[in-house]
Amino acid sequence: MGVNYSRFFILAIEMTETVISAQSLWSLISDCRPERGNVAWWRMTAGISVTFLGTGTSVGVPVIGCDCDVCASTDPRNRRTRSSVVVRHGNTTVLVDTGPDLREQALREGLRSVDAVIYTHAHLDHVVGFDELRAFCWRRPGGLPLHATANCMGTLRTMFGWAFDAVNAKNGGYVRPEPQVIEGALEIAGLKAVPLPVEHAAVETIGLMFGDGNARLAYLPDVKRIPVATAEMLRGVDVLIVDALRESDHPTHFTTAEALDLARACGARQTWLTHLGHENDHATLAATLPEGVDVAYDGLTIDVVRG
Ligand SMILES: [Zn+2]
Ligand SMILES: [Zn+2]
Ligand SMILES: [Zn+2]
Repeated sequence: MGVNYSRFFILAIEMTETVISAQSLWSLISDCRPERGNVAWWRMTAGISVTFLGTGTSVGVPVIGCDCDVCASTDPRNRRTRSSVVVRHGNTTVLVDTGPDLREQALREGLRSVDAVIYTHAHLDHVVGFDELRAFCWRRPGGLPLHATANCMGTLRTMFGWAFDAVNAKNGGYVRPEPQVIEGALEIAGLKAVPLPVEHAAVETIGLMFGDGNARLAYLPDVKRIPVATAEMLRGVDVLIVDALRESDHPTHFTTAEALDLARACGARQTWLTHLGHENDHATLAATLPEGVDVAYDGLTIDVVRG
């Protein structure tokens, strides 16, 4: 974060005595990058990166009608839209979940295209923004690959049947899903994604382990218990993003302490807490966390590097 690319390019120009003027080089760069979200463009060659579209629990923060200190806070890190991330590798962009805030999140982050969507589970705060995928479908040939467990895909087909209907799909305005049921590891243009089964409420839920043969990123936004096999896969992960709803116990979500226990047990080099409720003030929570653990916030982008 905070790398001054303009100084880098000016230095490069001075060193090579290029025949291209600095001005024309800048206009060339400007033509190539999106109008917004240029951070992502610069990251094209930098391995895996992840951007937090949202870091909030199912009702978001602030909560409607709540006057608590966090909901009334002016700290932008206390404004949490529903949990979702974008994972980038090379020039490939993978969206994880489509919550109710997807439109605002995409506009805020300058997200203009996605190459695939992977779903963690069928709770509304992770699927109900499905129809916002239309805008991404308009800008691509063919269908948009949607990866979900059989269970989750079944719910998507029930909720958004019109989009999966072969007749309606001919209407260019609809989402054009290319449903791909997750039955094991999948690969999207060199980016591997391995499903990590977890226990979370009554709905079948997975986390995801992303890797490119170098660094590994685990994303588990909704979890209460980790099966042994998943715990094994998490061992030594470079970056762990994990559910940490609040300090007090909850039947279907990790508490802060449970998230920290997992981070310690799997030896994650860097851990980011997400799916946060309004019980958590960003600065107050961050001040209590051990080294290597931090609080995620909407709009944060991190590079996933091997520890
Ligand atoms: Zn959730
Ligand atoms: Zn509140
Ligand atoms: Zn959930």
